Amino acid sequence: MPELVDRFGRKHTYLRISVTDRCNLRCLYCMPEEGMKFMEQDRLLSYSQIIEVAETAARLGIRKYRITGGEPLVRPGIEELISGLAELPGVDDISLTTNGLLLAPQAYKLKKAGLDRVNISLDTLDPTRFKFIARRGELNKVLEAVEAAADAGLTPIKLNCVLLKGVNEDEIARFLKLSLEQPLHVRFIEYMPIGHDDEGWRSHYLPLGKVLEEADRLGYVLQQVEGPTGNGPSENYRIVSGLGTFGLIHPVSNHFCQNCNRLRLTSDGNLKPCLYWVDELNVKNALGSREEMESLFYRALDIKPENHEMAALLAGQSQSHVPTERRMSQIGG
Ligand code: SAM
Ligand code: SF4
Repeated sequence: MPELVDRFGRKHTYLRISVTDRCNLRCLYCMPEEGMKFMEQDRLLSYSQIIEVAETAARLGIRKYRITGGEPLVRPGIEELISGLAELPGVDDISLTTNGLLLAPQAYKLKKAGLDRVNISLDTLDPTRFKFIARRGELNKVLEAVEAAADAGLTPIKLNCVLLKGVNEDEIARFLKLSLEQPLHVRFIEYMPIGHDDEGWRSHYLPLGKVLEEADRLGYVLQQVEGPTGNGPSENYRIVSGLGTFGLIHPVSNHFCQNCNRLRLTSDGNLKPCLYWVDELNVKNALGSREEMESLFYRALDIKPENHEMAALLAGQSQSHVPTERRMSQIGG
């Protein structure tokens, strides 16, 4: 079976699977506070349909799976999907991205089902600011989730921290210290202009050069290292003698598309070759046919563009394709 290599020679081994567009938070960079319209439940792929898509992916060389959303843990019975993925041939990593609110009570159960590790979103260590960014929920629950994930062995634990100008940039030092003192892997992420609110993005976008400036100001000596799960899109560092690491994911200021190895499956069954552009292929008509599902994966690669153009948007230049109107929660971040 030919591997999933696209027109630019990029081999695809990673599938991100979104299981819902719903969420129990309303993070300001992801969703509006009020009026969010969610998909009718009957449009969602069932877990067995997702597994059918993933079986094809596995035959074509996908080895890593990430479950995401929306908030994946608001969908009941996620362990059923995890155990199905864990049985796929060649699988070598199953991870989950979560806001953590519902993780602590089920961390062991998810580990037992076959989940290897989690990314937990944590943009602030200040409870009042948490309410401002996430608009719902409690910081304490997220911190409990980090502990529960460590106890359950869902490691290495990555903490996703979207840096926002004028909102949490003054916490870079606290997050760096966390990576120094605890075996946690902080991922600073640039705010991306995905499918909404250009103005909010323009006023809060912060290039991640600021993180290295802050580390320098604090006198930290840094070693550039491989990430705890190998080399992904993030540029990784360890503060000398640190127990954890920190990484910079800077899709806007320094895109990493030349190494992109991922495809995305949305919760309503669309295969998306690139997070940023509108192009997607619906898998629902291919369910039940191995050949059609395989050819859909190859078609997704054929239409995958060389890169996104978030930087062009920032510079006010014209773009070569049409950007998606889906929000991050509707794609699967
Ligand atoms: N609800 C889960 C969570 O928050 O971890 C999983 C889905 S969320 C869409 C996945 C990741 O995307 C989160 O770490 C979130 O911070 C990030 N994200 C959402 N919108 C973003 C944006 N506009 N720019 C950069 N990252 C974003
Ligand atoms: Fe929900 Fe995650 Fe989006 Fe926040 S980033 S609103 S937790 S989907």
